[in-house]
Amino acid sequence: MHSIFFLSFLSFLCLACARASRIPGLPPVQSLKEYEDQVVIRFNISDAKDAAALRTVVDRMLLDVWDFTESRVDIRIPSRRIRFLTRALPSSLLDNHSILVPDLARVAAATYPSSRPSLGQNPHQHFHQGTTPASQDPIKYDIADVYFHDYQPYSVIVAWMRLVDSMFRGRGLIQMISIGKSYEGRDIPALRVGIRPDHVTSGHRREIILVTGGFHAREWISTSSVNYVAWSFIQSMDEDPVVKKILERFDFVFVPLLNPDGYDYTWEVDRLWRKSRQRTKMSYCPGLDLDHSFSYQWDSEGRQHEPCSGSYGGEEPLQAVEASQLVNWARNETENGFKFAGYLDLHSYSQQVLVPYSFSCQVQPPNIENLQEVAMNLAKHLRLSNGESYTVASACGGSGSESIGPFVEARGGSAIDYFYHELKTRYSYQIKLRDTGSYGFLLPSDNIVPAGEEIFQAMKYLGDFLLGNNGHEWLQESDGDEQEPPTKDDELPITELRKRQPENMSGDEHT
Ligand SMILES: [Zn+2]
Repeated sequence: MHSIFFLSFLSFLCLACARASRIPGLPPVQSLKEYEDQVVIRFNISDAKDAAALRTVVDRMLLDVWDFTESRVDIRIPSRRIRFLTRALPSSLLDNHSILVPDLARVAAATYPSSRPSLGQNPHQHFHQGTTPASQDPIKYDIADVYFHDYQPYSVIVAWMRLVDSMFRGRGLIQMISIGKSYEGRDIPALRVGIRPDHVTSGHRREIILVTGGFHAREWISTSSVNYVAWSFIQSMDEDPVVKKILERFDFVFVPLLNPDGYDYTWEVDRLWRKSRQRTKMSYCPGLDLDHSFSYQWDSEGRQHEPCSGSYGGEEPLQAVEASQLVNWARNETENGFKFAGYLDLHSYSQQVLVPYSFSCQVQPPNIENLQEVAMNLAKHLRLSNGESYTVASACGGSGSESIGPFVEARGGSAIDYFYHELKTRYSYQIKLRDTGSYGFLLPSDNIVPAGEEIFQAMKYLGDFLLGNNGHEWLQESDGDEQEPPTKDDELPITELRKRQPENMSGDEHT
């Protein structure tokens, strides 16, 4: 099966590349020319006055804010305007800034595919070192080499998912589905992966663990990571008893591209485009920020209400077509008897695991302690994979109940809040992937495999935790041979946490 798949995959890739509107290796994109004069600057912020001053200037100059925390802000700016920016800032900020990405055009161009291993080439010359026993399977390296060697355009991703569907559909439940259509009419593709045992009379209500990526078009590593995790679960379901057990209990639904229009636009026109491509009331400022478009605690005021803002959430909740499609699909699943047990929404960058709520730092979810404890363990499994450290924070951007600064504004209408609150998904997280600012959204493609491995390990942990969390398997088998004992470097008492879960989380008391 493996070798047939590999050969089919290679021939598919040649066809897909030939059909793609652009020849791989030639960055398209008018925007690269514009980037020639641009850099990304990081300002370290020491107090609210600094932050306010920077916010004022950034708004006036309509600059692209890449990322922000309470202590730093990363901004993209044309070099020739730096002087104007610095003249308007207090001296405390001028002493505390550095250039993160000095050569934006070159770094952006390098994210497009440049070369592929050919059929005659030894694929092992190129593989990326993984860290898990599952990833030492040479067949896996063959395929990972070709498909995960580069970021892929929309047409190749869809063709790859179709191929996975056609090759593995007979094995349990591996099925390509469509979540719906985007604003411009593209399919929003997904892979549904699970194992339905022959004796389906387990009595459990089937549950879903949802993994999404590509909300923000330029965050390519989120899209590749969703596909990598899907592939890793499919590949290891026969060899890894933990994976098998997780897939027997849960359906994973992997949605790598919630924003296919925006993603396609980053391949054809502007590498750093963020929003969807939906028309707004200002024709020269298209696009909605999908992660401000969901209907729970949707914001009706502030920056998110301006069509030209990068975080524009529309004129009303769920106006963004793609967010609305995801909600319709998810509600339909719940009406058909499924529950959402876990949700991970992948973004980049800054290596953080973010916990609800996003809309406010003043309100805490009822199971915040459990959410945070599992978040710490997700961060730990991310780190154990390759040594990259991830921090845990509230998705509201603040560290707690104190008021937050002008950059770190609370974000209403987010997907993780929606799933947590409206669909009772008790474990709902946003994870911001690699890196911490050296490349930001322009992460080189040799990160695809190690970043994917990190998320795969974290997902395995979450699936295993949710098995125990729901009582049944853990309580029956915690003393049996099939249950792997906690590893000796487990710092947190997972076993204790699991034992406590049925009490703390019993029923649907979630509010
Ligand atoms: Zn994002």
